[in-house]
Amino acid sequence: MSGIYLHIPYCRQKCHYCNFYSLASVKYRADLLPAMLHELEIQKDFLQGEPVNTVYFGGGTPSLLSASEIANLLSVIHRLFSVDPGAEITLEANPDELTKKKLSELIACGVNRLSIGIQSFEDRDLKFLNRTHSARQAYNSVKHSQDAGFSNLSIDLIYGIPTLDSTCWESNLMTALELDVPHISAYALTVEEMTPLAVLIKKGKLPGVEDAQQAQHFDILTSLLEASGFLHYEVSNFCKPGMYARHNTAYWQGISYLGIGPSAHSFNRVSRQWNVSNLGLYIQSLQQSEIPFEKEFLTPAQLFNEYVMTSLRTMWGCNLSYIRENFGPEWLAQVLRDAQPAIDQGFLILKNSIRTKELSPQPEFQDATLFLTNEGKFRADGIAADFFRE
Ligand code: SF4
Repeated sequence: MSGIYLHIPYCRQKCHYCNFYSLASVKYRADLLPAMLHELEIQKDFLQGEPVNTVYFGGGTPSLLSASEIANLLSVIHRLFSVDPGAEITLEANPDELTKKKLSELIACGVNRLSIGIQSFEDRDLKFLNRTHSARQAYNSVKHSQDAGFSNLSIDLIYGIPTLDSTCWESNLMTALELDVPHISAYALTVEEMTPLAVLIKKGKLPGVEDAQQAQHFDILTSLLEASGFLHYEVSNFCKPGMYARHNTAYWQGISYLGIGPSAHSFNRVSRQWNVSNLGLYIQSLQQSEIPFEKEFLTPAQLFNEYVMTSLRTMWGCNLSYIRENFGPEWLAQVLRDAQPAIDQGFLILKNSIRTKELSPQPEFQDATLFLTNEGKFRADGIAADFFRE
């Protein structure tokens, strides 16, 4: 199993909170596709013939690509890699890009899953975030996608926005439920350094983000979606049974992936590499048949930290047999010692896994496992950090 990620580094305008690598211009636009196609050719052996089960167009705003550019990328991927006939092919899209014409073109290209950046169904929040679309466009984009035939849909929502009170957050979730989407990703608004949001808050031009409000929104999120039949399968991700995001789940389960495009990361279970976050340099290098990347071989401590961080965030939990087999009994003993304070505080529980096999590709994940409680999920990163090794 493996995946391919394609990073499309353009946006119509930058959202205030965004720290992803993307340009709000069309600089180098004509050169991007040839460079990415060339990178695919150069990297054709990276996955060592493993079947590709997922292809993910992320960014940036990949819905800014034309249908022929998407078709071209997919056709080269099919030629160079062993793509599973049932592969999940996801495209991230912004609501204002999803016209009826675009939607039917995407289906014709072979895209079979959309991840729509809704963020909120309230104009006030969208303005705060500096999104390009309106609340009406957000709502209609889901309807139009469903009408076009996309049944495998995910929407992104953001909570903890200062303009979003609890009633409006609940109403956003009710709208998502009414639209009957099978997958919802919900993220707390985070203020990343060097973003316009951080600067505007620092200057007092926008109100800051409150932890207590975010915690309250997280409670509303988990209780409402779980009561509506969604599985809370990762801290920020909820799905109807069987509708989990296969591409992102593969990341959390340590499956190899190849990243194409500026700033894209690749991983092959032994090393990780990342392309330069500079579109001009990326294109110039590919024009000379070179990929501008940095690479690191993962130490046991890095592999362990990554496993604990990602596994604890998921409903499959952190499997203790896996730790014993891959890192030894001493590391396992340390994990048990490190877990105790969070167990005592009610943030972690230790139990034999009774989780559904349907979602778990690893049948050995059936014995003693650490899970975050609902209270612990809101503090997931801090709790995982307590296990980290140097
Ligand atoms: S659309 Fe996405 S990638 Fe582009 S600026 Fe907004 S959050 Fe960032």
